[in-house]
Amino acid sequence: MFWTGELIARSAPVRRRFTPERSALADHAVAAYVGLAIGDALGATVEFMTPNEIRAQYKVHEDITGGGWLRLKAGQVTDDTTMSLALGEAILKKGHVDAHAAAEAFDAWMRGKPVDIGNTVRRNLVSWRTSGNPEAPASEHDAGNGAAMRVLPVALAYYGQPPENTISASRAQAHVTHHNTLSDAACETLIFMVQDFLAGRDAIEVERERAGPLVEKFPVFAWDRKHSENPSGYIVDTLQAVFQSLFATECFEDCLIDVVNRGGDADTTGAIAGMLAGARYGLAAIPRRWLRGLDELTRVRCEKQAEALISLAGSPSS
Ligand SMILES: [Mg+2]
Repeated sequence: MFWTGELIARSAPVRRRFTPERSALADHAVAAYVGLAIGDALGATVEFMTPNEIRAQYKVHEDITGGGWLRLKAGQVTDDTTMSLALGEAILKKGHVDAHAAAEAFDAWMRGKPVDIGNTVRRNLVSWRTSGNPEAPASEHDAGNGAAMRVLPVALAYYGQPPENTISASRAQAHVTHHNTLSDAACETLIFMVQDFLAGRDAIEVERERAGPLVEKFPVFAWDRKHSENPSGYIVDTLQAVFQSLFATECFEDCLIDVVNRGGDADTTGAIAGMLAGARYGLAAIPRRWLRGLDELTRVRCEKQAEALISLAGSPSS
């Protein structure tokens, strides 16, 4: 009807006023990256705590305060965000994912004495220094969440690319440290979920078409059996907690509060949930106290890298 078009035309400029310089795609890409960093900074405070311990200390943990076992400054992030940034820089330098460039970037990151580092990441980067082979040997034990926590730059740079290119890029970066079937399946599912949200698809479709097939192929990932608490660094535990929080809530803030208060590997569940929820809801949905609470240099790096990677999308030279 005539008036419907008029209403749409009238509401459009209001939205643009909030984000004058960005397209909706870039807005959601930036929100995914800043969301990753916010989830990391928020969750790190309660990493390795149980839900009961969190309740006793905070009632509900919902502010970026630093601390935790790593004794972080308020707003400081951990390996989830800094490895993503290292990978993103390597992608931007080459114009695509290159396994050697990713290994060099991760090694340089490790030499910079990061605040934390996973055992699998350390072991396989040390091996790479002597072997020069950027593909770690396949191992059924390397099913940690260390490759999945840093997939965002691949999701952004390969947005709009054929799925087979995206999958080979995902494996090239992941196998530098984690060469494992469950890790691969998780990385690829997360990348496609981020890309679906960037394309504006709704959560019901994303759940049905991405998370559903993951569980069909690998039933161990089924996340609806019981409430996931104290999730470990095992990729299955991590994704179960993230999916429960993402698909049971309806805004960015509720999703992140829900997931980090489950404790366990809370910086990584927070980072992955923040990435997905940022891509889903966009920048305007992120609470201002969290945007202000995040380390400013980190926030600016995430914003700039997200914009550069999404501009690269459609043109990776892979
Ligand atoms: Mg971490």
